[in-house]
Amino acid sequence: MTIVHSLQALRKALSGAPAHHPSVAFVPTMGALHHGHISLVAASRQLSPTVVVSIFVNPTQFNDPADFARYPKSLEQDIDMLEAAGTHLLFLPEVATLYPQGTQHLPAYPLGRLEELLEGVHRPGHFQGVCQVVHRLLEAVQPGQLLLGAKDYQQCMVIRQLLQHTTLPTQLHIVPTMREADGLAMSSRNRRLSADGRRQAASIYRTLRWFDSQWPHQPPAVLEAEASRQLLAAGFDSVDYISISHAHTLEPLLQADANEPAVVLAAAFLEGVRLIDNLPLGQQPA
Ligand code: AMP
Repeated sequence: MTIVHSLQALRKALSGAPAHHPSVAFVPTMGALHHGHISLVAASRQLSPTVVVSIFVNPTQFNDPADFARYPKSLEQDIDMLEAAGTHLLFLPEVATLYPQGTQHLPAYPLGRLEELLEGVHRPGHFQGVCQVVHRLLEAVQPGQLLLGAKDYQQCMVIRQLLQHTTLPTQLHIVPTMREADGLAMSSRNRRLSADGRRQAASIYRTLRWFDSQWPHQPPAVLEAEASRQLLAAGFDSVDYISISHAHTLEPLLQADANEPAVVLAAAFLEGVRLIDNLPLGQQPA
């Protein structure tokens, strides 16, 4: 695996591949890697002979500076995992490499309703930051394929919109969420939980599964209130949202309707750690 830090070294390492050629697949990450990230690398290898991964903790997407400061880091272990997974190129930029003019006057992206719903409400500015960094990374790497995880459901929709807006000819692939044995979605933030917290955290997935078992037999508001109660009873400190939404627009579904494609999405705090998860409804094996 080749490791590069600068844009020049990145372009040189990729000089054999034409811009946006399908032979280059790209997985952007913030490091503190786990098997969910590695599943994106594995999926990339199925698509393309060259797999590029970036590790960059992007300051512009953290609306909470304490969350940015506490974001876990494990670079040596990350490098070993990426090498073992067959990554060809690891891009490790500095803030000044991606934002040479600083982070103050970056472009704003038209995200419409996506910024007014769910994560958009609870993390103001977050998706602008995500677009800023992914746009910069796509310009730098020029991949034919971009792989993202379904765990960040709304983020996938935001990046789809970014690709349309910028008309970059990169194809988006969404990879299913990797879970621990008890159902907890793998996440870099899980490592900030205590052993007790880690056990309690799995109740977020249990609650989503319960929600799925009830849909569409009860009204969304009833299910949402009960699901929230379940998370608090399981030890969560607070619930930002647990919402049943239209799977294609994320608009809240106000009535139970088996004909609408639906997804339940949740964000909740446990031991000060913000966990998110989602489950498309009506698609689970019984
Ligand atoms: P992050 O490092 O959290 O920015 O995540 C980098 C990429 O990995 C994003 O596309 C995430 O959606 C994806 N990802 C994170 N957790 C998982 C998971 N448990 N399963 C699959 N993909 C994931």
